Amino acid sequence: MIVQSAPDPEEEFAIFNHLESEVRSYARSFPVVFARARGAQLFARDGTAYLDFLMGCSSLNYGHNPPELKAALIDYIAGDGITHGLDLYNEAKESFLREFHETILRPRQLDYVVQFPGPTGANAVEAALKLARKITGRSNIIAFTSGFHGVSLGALSCTGNRYHRAAAGQLLGGVTRLPYDGYLGSAVDTADYLDHLLSDPSSGVDAPAAVIVETVQGEGGLNVAGMAWLRKVAAIAQRNGALLIVDDIQVGVGRTDAFFSFEAAGLRPDIVTMAKSISGYGLPMALVLIDRQLDRWEPGEHNGTFRGNCHAFVTARAALEHFWRTDSLAASVREKGNLLKSRLEQIAQKYDPSRASAKGRGMMRGIDLKSGEIAGQVISTAFQRGLIVETAGPYDEVVKCLPPLVIGEDQLSQGLDILEGAIDSVIGSTVNTAA
Ligand SMILES: *Cc1c(COP(=O)(O)O)cnc(C)c1O
Repeated sequence: MIVQSAPDPEEEFAIFNHLESEVRSYARSFPVVFARARGAQLFARDGTAYLDFLMGCSSLNYGHNPPELKAALIDYIAGDGITHGLDLYNEAKESFLREFHETILRPRQLDYVVQFPGPTGANAVEAALKLARKITGRSNIIAFTSGFHGVSLGALSCTGNRYHRAAAGQLLGGVTRLPYDGYLGSAVDTADYLDHLLSDPSSGVDAPAAVIVETVQGEGGLNVAGMAWLRKVAAIAQRNGALLIVDDIQVGVGRTDAFFSFEAAGLRPDIVTMAKSISGYGLPMALVLIDRQLDRWEPGEHNGTFRGNCHAFVTARAALEHFWRTDSLAASVREKGNLLKSRLEQIAQKYDPSRASAKGRGMMRGIDLKSGEIAGQVISTAFQRGLIVETAGPYDEVVKCLPPLVIGEDQLSQGLDILEGAIDSVIGSTVNTAA
């Protein structure tokens, strides 16, 4: 390979610095211009390869440009398949719905209807909230500390992060915030608190239309809800006439091994929101799954111009066909999830628990470095060494690994070696090791 001399940063990023709004965010952590991507790797314009443990924030569970999906898309485009279909009946949507029914819903005995909202996660959440309010005639929603549900106003009301909330510039109402599992330490069962508030007529908490919950809080810093806690919350919601909305936008589509993250807890949510990896190819697509009995929408009540992203339907169908007709992907996620877990625990255990601890579930795991500053230095060091990995959590203190589900064990180890080296070099020299 021809090694090029380092470009002048001012020239390298000139158009971005001049023309792109300050609102850009991820680009700031990884200051290079990317050109190509394949599998678990991103390639900068100068040819430098990076292992990608960010993967579009879990939008690319099958890796970059998975060949089976790419082939289906190329065929479809070459045949002049419809690109933009509003919500007209079309063959791409038909094939997706068939595959989704046969491969995902029917084997799990989930009797959902599928709503195609606008193509973002936030839009799916907006639709879910509206529908829950419409069905119940109630306006209050229960959401949890550190929850992330998107940044449009309705979804943002459910999002915990103060920085994102402040950007609304207006009151974000209609939501009661309650502590997520573990928020008050392991001695306090926060589901009992929820139960107490909802059964006490003087608690000051209005009867909720819905409880919206993530089984693992992705943006919130990899907080994992216990299975028993989830079941309890579901039962409390049901007892109180509130719908259970599981936001599976980041944690769904196999991130925790099963297709839906809530399968392990045996939940049957009234409404499920999906986006990110549902198209499988990084194309915009979102779904709201609605219990058939609860499909009270009137035609067009929640609409949007881009509800028919046919290219996304094509790749989503191909992904289900290729990866979900058998159990092998879920089984490999289980295996690699365990590998990731033991490796991250090993890394964390080199340090005092007040400095580092491993957390997460499935292939959505990371290390809480207890300091946003340290975590920031770690990801920037990792980037210099060829690994793209981001932070999450209230102080951006958790380094969050979201490798593609299809990653080989060699590449997984390689990425973790880089991460370990980065952590060692940032904190290793400055703290007492536990060993
Ligand atoms: C990313 C995300 C959203 C918002 O999705 P967008 O496509 O960014 O609007 C909502 N909920 C969860 C859990 C997410 O991770």
